[in-house]
Amino acid sequence: MSVPVNRRTALACLLPLALARGDAPPGAAEPWPGRTRLVRGARSLIFAHGAPGTGPAALREPALRELALRADVAAARVGAVLGRTVRPVVLVPASAAEAARLAGTGPLDGLAAVADGGRVIVVPGGFDRLTPTGRDVVLAHELTHVAAGTGGLPVWLSEGFADYVAYRDAGLAVPAAAAELAAEVRSGRAPRELPGPAAFAPGADRLAAAYQEAWLACRFIAARTGEARLVRLYREARAVGADRALTALGLPVATLTALWRTYVRDELG
Ligand SMILES: [Zn+2]
Repeated sequence: MSVPVNRRTALACLLPLALARGDAPPGAAEPWPGRTRLVRGARSLIFAHGAPGTGPAALREPALRELALRADVAAARVGAVLGRTVRPVVLVPASAAEAARLAGTGPLDGLAAVADGGRVIVVPGGFDRLTPTGRDVVLAHELTHVAAGTGGLPVWLSEGFADYVAYRDAGLAVPAAAAELAAEVRSGRAPRELPGPAAFAPGADRLAAAYQEAWLACRFIAARTGEARLVRLYREARAVGADRALTALGLPVATLTALWRTYVRDELG
């Protein structure tokens, strides 16, 4: 079974995890000593749990080769925005439960991947159910967290930036990628404020729409000021705080919010 191209039903980032651990150095150590398979992409390293030919389909050779190719694509996309070479380390555990143990979190069932300590951890089951485009989007999103870090940022900026990178080259129309928010806008419920932390909690009512609001905020900033300035904003926000960085960009939060509301209506109305 595949889910719609829109990946929201299968992915929500584990916020505390991303915030707490997104800045850790790359972790390329062998995760399952003596039981690890390594598949090398052009830039990526894929570590899978188990011997060749064993375990679920996601751990078989063709799936791991495909994953390495997709991780390479994600690395190119993230590197193009950040302006540097990105080398993904992707872990493929044998089950969602094992993914949760690796990430040190609660259950990950229903999610597709998480960023953790410099690595992207694929969640078997959730990842497999995504369309090819959805897999590329998820990998680029999580790899952006790993490569750019998330500490010290409002959630809308860290998640919106990750989705900006993830959707930049995905070839999806905005109303399709932001289907839930588009439905709200068309029914007269356009957003008023940038989404706060509670909007991104796992299981939140409007989780999909919150991600889409954040994505469109970053997409708007890139459209108005240029992608390079969005990237600089992200870095400066981590250094001096988002409010100061946005003001320096000429978009203090109140101004940004007003302009973003118009942008959302224009893109989705
Ligand atoms: Zn995320």
